Amino acid sequence: MAEIGLDIGSTAAKGVLINDREQFRFMLPTGWSPRAAAESLVHNLLDCSGLERTRVRRLYATGYGRAAFSGADKTITEIKCHARGVFALHPEVRTIIDIGGQDSKVININEKGKVIDFAMNDKCAAGTGRFLQVMATAMGMDVSELSNAEDPALTVAINSMCTVFAESEIIGLLANGTPKSGIIAGLHQSVGKRVAAMGRRLGVRETLAFTGGVAINNGVQRTLSQELGVNLLIPDICQYTGALGAALYAAEEA
Ligand code: ADP
Repeated sequence: MAEIGLDIGSTAAKGVLINDREQFRFMLPTGWSPRAAAESLVHNLLDCSGLERTRVRRLYATGYGRAAFSGADKTITEIKCHARGVFALHPEVRTIIDIGGQDSKVININEKGKVIDFAMNDKCAAGTGRFLQVMATAMGMDVSELSNAEDPALTVAINSMCTVFAESEIIGLLANGTPKSGIIAGLHQSVGKRVAAMGRRLGVRETLAFTGGVAINNGVQRTLSQELGVNLLIPDICQYTGALGAALYAAEEA
């Protein structure tokens, strides 16, 4: 028997299937239909694991698109799922910073993994993965190319707080011949500063884990760590911690 946890995000839909012995993971773009993405995820997870749908005892869903998917036995908040997933991987963690496609969150947990308090920015694209995606497109790049293309020694401060104005600002900088590598370092610094400020307002404690798709980006890792003055722990499966948490809740309650 197995359980499935889905994290139907604004950008990427992630799924984890767990049974007694193994764990299977799958990810695909959410696209315009969170429901279709979730159905495709389940199909792919069953395919990878070789299990029939009847072998899945429970399927729990989290993430921005969870309400659009009627196939879940239960939906759980992202805050609870990220906390559960990270705590299972690294019980020493006391603060989680998650930067996804559409929001960023800071979550404090206690020694039992229970959420104590949290802060969230879901009102503004600055300080999220969306900001980096828009800027990468403006520079003719894919977001996954940014981290290797930066040069911190040439960092150019990006002054605009708003994503739309920041896009115009970098187009202007490029037109003036400013090196892309310095602009990219400035973009990473902008995200790092914004999220670190939210962390400072809530208060962060070590061990501090950094999760979400943006945690893959070494440049944001660097600036966030510098701004907060602490080392960050990046789980190997940093983009899957919400889906893992949902699967673990499903297993617990099965
Ligand atoms: P959501 O749950 O909102 O869909 P994710 O946690 O999956 O968000 O993160 C999506 C974000 O992660 C994207 O907006 C992008 O900025 C970033 N991202 C995804 N893949 C990569 C990659 N390979 N390298 C760098 N950044 C990435």
